[in-house]
Amino acid sequence: MTAEMRKVYLDNNATTRTREEVIAAMAPYFGGIYGNASSIHQFGRPARTAVDEARNRVASLLGAASPEEIIFTSGGTESDNFAIKGVVNALRSKGNHIITSAIEHPAVLNTCKFLAKEGCLVTFVGVDEYGVIKLDELKKAITDKTILITVMHANNEIGTIEPVEEIGKIAEEKGVYFHTDAVQSAGKLPLDLKNMNISLLSISGHKLYGPKGVGALYIKKGTKITPQMLGGHHEMGKRAGTENVPGIVGLGKACELAGKELNAESKKLTELRDYLYKGITSKIEDVRLNGHPQNRLPNTLNVGFKYLEGEGIILNLDMEGVGASTGSACTSGSLEPSHVLSAMSVDAADIQGSVRFSIGRDNTKEDINYVVGVLPPIIKRLRDMSPLYEKGK
Ligand SMILES: *Cc1c(COP(=O)(O)O)cnc(C)c1O
Repeated sequence: MTAEMRKVYLDNNATTRTREEVIAAMAPYFGGIYGNASSIHQFGRPARTAVDEARNRVASLLGAASPEEIIFTSGGTESDNFAIKGVVNALRSKGNHIITSAIEHPAVLNTCKFLAKEGCLVTFVGVDEYGVIKLDELKKAITDKTILITVMHANNEIGTIEPVEEIGKIAEEKGVYFHTDAVQSAGKLPLDLKNMNISLLSISGHKLYGPKGVGALYIKKGTKITPQMLGGHHEMGKRAGTENVPGIVGLGKACELAGKELNAESKKLTELRDYLYKGITSKIEDVRLNGHPQNRLPNTLNVGFKYLEGEGIILNLDMEGVGASTGSACTSGSLEPSHVLSAMSVDAADIQGSVRFSIGRDNTKEDINYVVGVLPPIIKRLRDMSPLYEKGK
């Protein structure tokens, strides 16, 4: 008999494990409480109550002024599509110019590219070497045809936090809507939307220990937006389709727990993240930190191992029971170099060997010790085989 291999999941920016408390909260809505939240009889009423309660919980985590500003969707991707296309549709008569960053998640980037083909003007503002958007470029890009700025709160690949308060102020001054994709930051960074100039904000259940296939879009009161999903009068007429009651309940529960634990969790994650980085750099040479050294998500560590291919490292880590990723789950499977690291002007050779470790609430110091134990021999073995390593030395 062989001992079972340790399993260490360090890919929490791709998805998280749904919490037991969340599963327990959802369970009744798959069973006894099956009514349609739009039905006014006794079968539907408890479903409606649960959806309303979840809306309160999401609003509370985000610091929204009112729960009516929260619209449930099928996830982060739909929220991003809804925000951007919905504003473009609603503000046609005002203009057709959108400003975004070069490092957005594909849900935003590809929506903007699609709209560019449909006749919108899109400006992709660059970032500095740490992945922080260039605010002066953003300011200069605004014209009287600009209707929307969409810049993410925190980047999924490198964890860099974007200056959303400053962007909000700029947008407010110019009378332009500001959407932010907060899928990676919700539950990890504090938010207080009633005191921020943010018109629209996207979140997703499965990135904060809730279920997959559910998310929300915050729409500040008074923001003009055209529904994208047409049908019945669900979600205050903004998003048609029978509510995913169990999913919405799960998202609400996940938000409630995330809010309560945010400070303690953030401290713990930061410690583990920095402990991992120290462990790696104390044992391995030629390592590059990608992303902002301080102003970064507490759980995200993206490092470049010079002379190597990230995929090789990931596959070898997988054989040791460790789950990590190159860049984002959404771009792995393609051989394109990361658009995020490219926009940061990282050397092509350094981009190749980049690996993202994203820590989660279940991880322990022992997990990190295990990774710091198995990684150095993998890197050594791969470098010994790498023709680039010979040249580099
Ligand atoms: C995961 C992710 C999304 C997509 O969310 P889904 O719920 O998976 O559709 C959007 N933006 C960012 C930053 C993400 O990390």
